[in-house]
Amino acid sequence: MLENIRGNEKIKAYFERAFKEKRLSHSYLFEGSTGIGKKTMAMAWANLLLCENSQANKPCGVCKSCELLKAGNHPDLIMIEKDAKTTKIDAIREKLVLEMETKPYRSAYKIVIVKDADSLTPEAQNAMLKTMEEPPSYGMIILMTQNAEFLLPTIRSRCVQLRFEPLKEQELYDCLESTYLPAIKKRIYVSFCDGKLGVLKQLLHDESFLERREKSVQYLLRLEKVDLMAMYELIKEITEEKENLAEILEFWELWYRDLAVLKTTGQDNLYYLDYKEQLLDSASKLTYNKISTSLLALRDAKLQVYQNVYTTFIIENLLLNLKERKK
Ligand SMILES: [Zn+2]
Repeated sequence: MLENIRGNEKIKAYFERAFKEKRLSHSYLFEGSTGIGKKTMAMAWANLLLCENSQANKPCGVCKSCELLKAGNHPDLIMIEKDAKTTKIDAIREKLVLEMETKPYRSAYKIVIVKDADSLTPEAQNAMLKTMEEPPSYGMIILMTQNAEFLLPTIRSRCVQLRFEPLKEQELYDCLESTYLPAIKKRIYVSFCDGKLGVLKQLLHDESFLERREKSVQYLLRLEKVDLMAMYELIKEITEEKENLAEILEFWELWYRDLAVLKTTGQDNLYYLDYKEQLLDSASKLTYNKISTSLLALRDAKLQVYQNVYTTFIIENLLLNLKERKK
């Protein structure tokens, strides 16, 4: 099972050894950004432990436990997710504290996975602490978080902490081996997923991703050429994309990031390698200073979108700013 996981070799090796030597901890803390593979690893580890015939680091895949896991309803695996913004004490009491007091129903272990552990309120963390200090022999808690700093030090010190790293470029290409995509598309997916396998899979299933990316770039290329009249037409068009605005700004930010790269190092690790000619052309017309103030303007605009500032105002401001000739 673990051998099917890509990347994070050290963590895989750690678990394989722990399983072989039966040296298990009662609490683990997985740290790393969204989409980086924390849940995949947690589920694979749980499967290995809960399987009734697992051998040589592999669950059998056919026993009742494996079946129940596949169907997502193994009684000895409990997943706690946040409710709106936080994970409250009631959820922890009911699904962690009480469950841990009850023996496993069919396996040797009872595993509780807490997603978004950074959303645990301090009360919820304290409620969890006692169980972590005196865990039952069969109990295992896996906390997943983007940032361990948000957890109480007393919680952190109880856990084996494992930091998840982004996948290397080659590992991502390996994942795409069986997709038969043209090289340029592979290149786009690999650069836009930022080393996160979860994001890579999402992009592959997102049928209009490439179209939206293309459209966002076309707006910028048009912006370079428009006069004031056409500019207001452009502002109107983009404003109508209210729903996609946050994403358009993300696309633009990466475009300007590419311009900055070309201006300084001229390297080829670009998000928009397929537009290299246009990028080089734009870069030649802009000063580094202008590119960097444009990046700041884009970040401001992104912030305004999250603050629900009036869309027309954001776009008008931003486009005038990007278009401005002066540094
Ligand atoms: Zn099995």
